[in-house]
Amino acid sequence: MGNRTFTMIKPDAMKNGHAGAILDRILKEGFHIKALKLTRLSPEKAAQFYAVHKDKPFYAELVSFMSSGPIIAAILEKENAVEDFRKLIGHTDPAKAEPNTIRKLYASSVGENAIHGSDSDENALIECRFMFSALEEY
Ligand code: UDP
Ligand code: MG
Repeated sequence: MGNRTFTMIKPDAMKNGHAGAILDRILKEGFHIKALKLTRLSPEKAAQFYAVHKDKPFYAELVSFMSSGPIIAAILEKENAVEDFRKLIGHTDPAKAEPNTIRKLYASSVGENAIHGSDSDENALIECRFMFSALEEY
C-alpha cells in the first residue's frame, strides 16, 4: 500500500467549482486514479472519519462542514504517494501553504481547506477501506 493514498475534494472546493481543476492537477502530477466517487458524508460518517480529532476545539465545526455538501473521494496511486500528495496539497492552513500547492490555490481557510490527503501509509489504507468498502476491486 506504500504507493497509494486517499483523497477527498472537500465541500468548499466542490461548491466553488474547483473539482475539475483539482482533478486535472492531480493527474498532471502523475497520480493515477484507481477509484473515484461523488458522494456525501453523513454527519455520523464525517465524525467517524475525523474521530482522531474528537477532542480538538474545531471538531464539531469540521464534522458539520464535511457533511455540508457533496465531496469527491478517490484512491490515488503513485510511487511515494502519501508523501508526494501531502506536498502537492500543502500546509493545512492555506496562509502557510507553499506557492502553487492545491490548498494555496483553492482553499480559503484552515477549516475549509479544499482537500484531504492521508498522512501515512497506514491511514491511507484505513481511509481507502472506509470509503471504498470493496477495496479488492480496485
Ligand atoms: N482543521 C480545522 N482547524 C484547525 C486544524 C484543522 O478546522 O485548526 C480541519 C481542516 O479541515 C483539516 C482537518 O481539520 O484539514 C484535519 O486536520 P489535520 O490536522 O489532520 O490537517 P490535514 O491533515 O488535513 O492537513
Ligand atoms: Mg490529517
